[in-house]
Amino acid sequence: MAHYSQSYDLFWHATQSFCHLCGNLHRLVDAHIVVKDSNVYLRKFCPTCGESMALISTDAAYYQQCNEYLKAPDLPEAHNTQVLRGCPYDCGVCPQHQNHPCLALFNITNECNMACNICYFSSHPGKGNHRSMEDIRAMLATLLRVESQPDLIQVTGGEPTTHPQILEILRYLKASPVRHLMLNTNGIRIAQEESFVKELKALGGGFEIYLQFDSLRSDVLRDIRGRDTHDIHLAALEILERYNLSTTLVCVIKKGQNDDEIGDIIEFSRRYRCVRGVVFQPVQEAGRIEAQGDFRITLSEIRQRVIDDVRNPFTAEDMIPLPCDPHKIGVGYAAKQMVGDYAQLFPVTGQIPKEMVTTHTGTIAFEQDRAFIKTIIETVSLDTAMGEAIVSDKIKQKLFCCWPSFLAPSDMGYEHVYRIVIMEFSDSYNFDTTNIKRECNFMIEPNRAIPFSTYNMGIKFSQ
Ligand code: SF4
Ligand code: SF4
Repeated sequence: MAHYSQSYDLFWHATQSFCHLCGNLHRLVDAHIVVKDSNVYLRKFCPTCGESMALISTDAAYYQQCNEYLKAPDLPEAHNTQVLRGCPYDCGVCPQHQNHPCLALFNITNECNMACNICYFSSHPGKGNHRSMEDIRAMLATLLRVESQPDLIQVTGGEPTTHPQILEILRYLKASPVRHLMLNTNGIRIAQEESFVKELKALGGGFEIYLQFDSLRSDVLRDIRGRDTHDIHLAALEILERYNLSTTLVCVIKKGQNDDEIGDIIEFSRRYRCVRGVVFQPVQEAGRIEAQGDFRITLSEIRQRVIDDVRNPFTAEDMIPLPCDPHKIGVGYAAKQMVGDYAQLFPVTGQIPKEMVTTHTGTIAFEQDRAFIKTIIETVSLDTAMGEAIVSDKIKQKLFCCWPSFLAPSDMGYEHVYRIVIMEFSDSYNFDTTNIKRECNFMIEPNRAIPFSTYNMGIKFSQ
């Protein structure tokens, strides 16, 4: 008989998870969210393996704060599946899901010109399988049924720039009702083909590069990506800067490998006018990776490293939970002003009343919300009239006493916004049936929309 012996300080609530010891994805196990020594754990009860504890946060106070940021859900406008076996076997999107797709991923190919050690999709040269335009049209139709005006589509793969019709696909999606379009890339084609970058620039505003950028160190890149891609990153950024093409740096964080570089990467990103911010993703057990054990890192640990780095101005108050999926996404927004070749950052998330953040109708795609950008600018600007409704006395005091002077040019917009996002996905270790229902990153298939985590976990769906 299984033996249950773990002790803990607090029991918060019950949920369900998977046992990461046997990895059985055919059966959910009961789990409790418990606190022990300020860490938060999933305490799991597996009939086969017995009890196990999975660390899900190193900051119990922040974990609890996430609940205060929960906002009323923006629900999908339609569903593609029914409730038959229950969550997570009915993806999706099924009527139980409590969030719309803030970010819709279009995987257009399994082909890649790299073969990274941590690839979610196990892509590599020769894997092929480019999606047809007919598939892409069906994927867009699926998304538009679920969300008639999507916030954000991200074209991904494999390496999407290997698709022979990549520009046609991007132009087609750009002409759809989507607010913001992103291209997720390892940067090789961007670094090598300026004419391609010119075509990307011609897509106009509301288009952004989501550039793989895990480390500044060759040994780390070799470990994570299987090759030293540092020169490729630098060459890609040089050309993106020349064209001022909006770029987000995306870093997969592995504990003991590159978690000591979080501050360095933020610092590095400040040299580029075109960089709109950095996304940090804790390594996830999916595709070609085993993330159990020593390499795992939690959102709270990454957040703490951002806060602890004295070179960037983000404080604990500035790194807040994103209200649509607070336990899984943390954000910090700043106004950005280039002074020479270095970005001055003025964090604002800690200055904006929580009520405004939690009643915001959009979700992750704040960038396309002009009212939100205006608020950011107004919060830090000394020459812009501010609306009384959204500016508290505390902010006024801070602005007029000690806030750094920030003269806002009249054409201020997305170029002057910088953000840090920490986005944690689920795998069998940290899976929680409560949080998964709030996941807002969806893989779009021709006939369904599946949360990114359950898609990658290899769960056998009921329909
Ligand atoms: S994760 Fe969401 S879409 Fe999938 S089964 Fe659960 S509630 Fe439904
Ligand atoms: S992680 Fe990206 S670049 Fe690396 S093999 Fe996979 S698709 Fe290619």
